Amino acid sequence: MEILKTDHLCKIYGSAEARVEALRDVNLSVNQGEFVAIVGASGSGKSSLLHLLGGVDQPTSGHVIIDGMDLYSQSENELAVFRRRKIGFIFQSYNLIPVLTAEENIKLPMLLENKRVDEGYLEELLSVLGLSDRRQHLPSQLSGGQQQRTAIGRALINKPSIILADEPTGNLDSKNSKEIVDLLTYSVRKYNQTLIMITHDLNVAQRADRIVNIKDGTLLQQTGVKDPE
Ligand code: ADP
Ligand code: MG
Repeated sequence: MEILKTDHLCKIYGSAEARVEALRDVNLSVNQGEFVAIVGASGSGKSSLLHLLGGVDQPTSGHVIIDGMDLYSQSENELAVFRRRKIGFIFQSYNLIPVLTAEENIKLPMLLENKRVDEGYLEELLSVLGLSDRRQHLPSQLSGGQQQRTAIGRALINKPSIILADEPTGNLDSKNSKEIVDLLTYSVRKYNQTLIMITHDLNVAQRADRIVNIKDGTLLQQTGVKDPE
């Protein structure tokens, strides 16, 4: 079942000499439960695409449709609520709040939504993330891998239907990278979530159900399509 699609999606930054065509007529369809890896050279438009899929930027033209809903036809408030409920974003730079502990950072999306934290699920997440004994630590007291796992916990705490990850293993060594991908695939299989992950690590990309190549803002051929069942 299709959960997300883009329809003639275009993104242009700036104008005149500063004009950059970051995405050109991108048409992508992703099924619920699918793990899609997006690969491409630096500057090819990967982050621009992910931001548009996550409702954190405005397309120049075209549409992003999630669960049958045209994302950018909503008001800014509606979009913000939709994003918090449906989407888990993992940034390469973690974006943790420095004055909050690991546990508080993970719980933050629930607090912003005024939702009760599912303590059982929080404990499960902390345990799977290997953070149970680091929950009271501030980000500055955590290793890079632990900070990234905290950022992943924050993205997963509200069980989003779609997880968008921008090079989540970009700053990690191969052992930590593998653990992060293990964890994300565990979550998506268990909760039938959809995972769209930018990566330049081919070992990571090869674990996806499908690899989407992007070059100069255009989607190329799709490889690595596995049998759906
Ligand atoms: P990638 O993530 O694949 O490295 P990006 O989506 O970040 O690529 O960038 C695609 C192109 O758009 C690049 O040429 C980049 O310089 C440009 N770009 C990205 N963000 C902005 C912005 N906010 N303003 C102007 N140009 C941008
Ligand atoms: Mg990028």
